[in-house]
Amino acid sequence: MTKSKLALTNGSSTPMVCGHCGKQSIFQLRGEGTQHNETLWKNSRDAQNAGVDFQIITTWRIFECSVCHQPTLVQEVVTYNHDGIYEPEVTDAETAVLYPKSIQKVVLSDLPPKIAEEYEAALQVQHISLNACAVLLRRTLEALFNHEKAQGKTLEQKVDYLLKSATIPQLLADMAHLGRHIGNLGAHVDANEVTEEDVTVLLNFIEVIFVYLYTTPTKVLAFKERLKKTP
Ligand SMILES: [Zn+2]
Repeated sequence: MTKSKLALTNGSSTPMVCGHCGKQSIFQLRGEGTQHNETLWKNSRDAQNAGVDFQIITTWRIFECSVCHQPTLVQEVVTYNHDGIYEPEVTDAETAVLYPKSIQKVVLSDLPPKIAEEYEAALQVQHISLNACAVLLRRTLEALFNHEKAQGKTLEQKVDYLLKSATIPQLLADMAHLGRHIGNLGAHVDANEVTEEDVTVLLNFIEVIFVYLYTTPTKVLAFKERLKKTP
């Protein structure tokens, strides 16, 4: 379990990225309960009555994002050891966000190094400066186009080239207003005209391309390797 997840579970004010708005946000605990309404056994006698020396408690907590005010459901599964005469001891703890479900995450190590470098830099400034993020997203796209040897003068032409060469599926081209957002990214970076929507649309577009071109093939390769090893 990571520290940030622990902090979230405990309702502390540690900022976390919200699965709805994508912002670093503070979460407020709005409600919680356990599966089967289970409560922690107070002493080892309860454990003896149950016939086991451990107890697993699943707790669900609903948090409200302080930015977009949407709910996030967090599940915490904690295993307690009751074999001693003292306080029950936590032997294992795991938390997971059940809602909203995150999209398949792009793993930086799956990306070609040059692309990963630009993309990571863009993510780092995403909530600090839209213009800086736009510049770095443009560089990310250019690194991707170089890697895929896309031809054309403008960013739009290069996206079209990848589509026509069937490197990326038509579905990606259907992302609403992609052309306009790419245009803004290309032409108006210095004119302070990049909007949050531009950056969001392009980030989504880039993530989908990454998953399609790099993450999924890496997984398929790993899967084939595993199949080979199984007799
Ligand atoms: Zn939010």
